[in-house]
Amino acid sequence: MALNTKIAIAVTKFTNRGMRIVGKNGRSLPGKIGLKFDKNLIRNLSSGTSTILITGTNGKTTTTHIITQAILNEFGACAYDPTSTNMSQGIATTLCLDAKVSGKRKSTFNVIECDEGATIRVVPQIKPDIILVTNLFKDQVDRYDSITKARDYIIDAIKSSPDSICILNADDQIVASIADFVDNRIVWYGVSCDLYSDEFKSIDKQVACVKCDAPLKFNHQTFAHLGNFYCEKCGNKAPAISYNLTSFKPENSLGDFSRFSRLKIKITNESSQSVDFTANISAPYDAYNALAAFCALDVFGLNQKNIISALARFKHAQNRFELFKIEGHSLYLHLIKNAVGANQVISTIASSNSFKNQKLFVVLLGKEIMDGQTTQWINEVDFDKLNSVKTKFILGGPCFDDLQNRLLELGIDKTQMRCIDNYSELLKEIIKCNQDCNVLANCSTNMDFRKLLVGTGELVDFWGQD
Ligand SMILES: [Zn+2]
Repeated sequence: MALNTKIAIAVTKFTNRGMRIVGKNGRSLPGKIGLKFDKNLIRNLSSGTSTILITGTNGKTTTTHIITQAILNEFGACAYDPTSTNMSQGIATTLCLDAKVSGKRKSTFNVIECDEGATIRVVPQIKPDIILVTNLFKDQVDRYDSITKARDYIIDAIKSSPDSICILNADDQIVASIADFVDNRIVWYGVSCDLYSDEFKSIDKQVACVKCDAPLKFNHQTFAHLGNFYCEKCGNKAPAISYNLTSFKPENSLGDFSRFSRLKIKITNESSQSVDFTANISAPYDAYNALAAFCALDVFGLNQKNIISALARFKHAQNRFELFKIEGHSLYLHLIKNAVGANQVISTIASSNSFKNQKLFVVLLGKEIMDGQTTQWINEVDFDKLNSVKTKFILGGPCFDDLQNRLLELGIDKTQMRCIDNYSELLKEIIKCNQDCNVLANCSTNMDFRKLLVGTGELVDFWGQD
């Protein structure tokens, strides 16, 4: 290993340790400094190891956690980032922490969550064995000016690594169109069963064909623009799938949400088989993540027993969905990051068994850098699906007035809303309401409000197995 690489590793490790001493867990800064000493740090540290790389708009973190657990089951060790810092600096840190200063790696596997835009810098360096794309939705609008922009970064990334096997979502026409531009081996996965009942399904009614702009049609649509699509004008259609989710059933209800789900996947490759297993997921949109992870790991050649055990046991990332007990009542904290994700959370709450009894909803909104510095996306969120005569909304966070405008626009009565700027006042108001509640908050507000909850209530290990 060259001297500058060794220095880069040492500096990254040193910075990381220093940050931990002062109580900071961020993985960006150490890698950023390391990359200044060796711009090929990621290439040098990943050479001779195997990598599964996960990218896409939603579901990256959950999919990465399942895959990491399965790799740990099979091999006992791998480099991964529990904090999901998915830009190249964070990835450099993750690889450095898994290396000795001599450059020798401790493990031979990497599971890398990668931001869509960062794929173009990371993939050419790391040349993953497997590249998995979950989906491509409109994200925080200022990041990419069109929905195909993120896709084009991914296409260029894949082109730089012709031996990578691509695991692609066949139900997403934007993801499916990647196949037109690359020569890599592709394995398709898709969902042929219903994930939501018709009443709670949040589907895009008008989807324009990515190839000719004509209205796209669907044989079956799961949610948003995902489903078995076809275009009558240009012949664009969903590719044939090798990993087909044919059944999804939530079970083991705990409180308002089911704790596990039963999934059935039909695999059609050299040897046709059907796999039936329980996964530690409850939200229907996570079915895609479980399926994607299963597909990638099976193609990678992992023992199916280890994959299934990972699906049953993996731990959800902190902050996606958590349950707190506060003065005897349940408080469900949900992370919402973009319109599609928020609508899925709302559909999941609205379709839960005891929704009829839930009348208190708290929505928090901010626009920090981590939020994409915009709140425009809430104009596509169907908050009214939570509304009934007795529903009460408490709105908070720095951008509560944008929320109020959106709720008014959706026809929700102003008397049902209360805006509270200050988080501790807001929590007092929740406690005063003396009932269970759901809190929907975007990245910055989720982080800030969570700190207060941790100090006040009891965090229930909702996903714990035992
Ligand atoms: Zn078309």
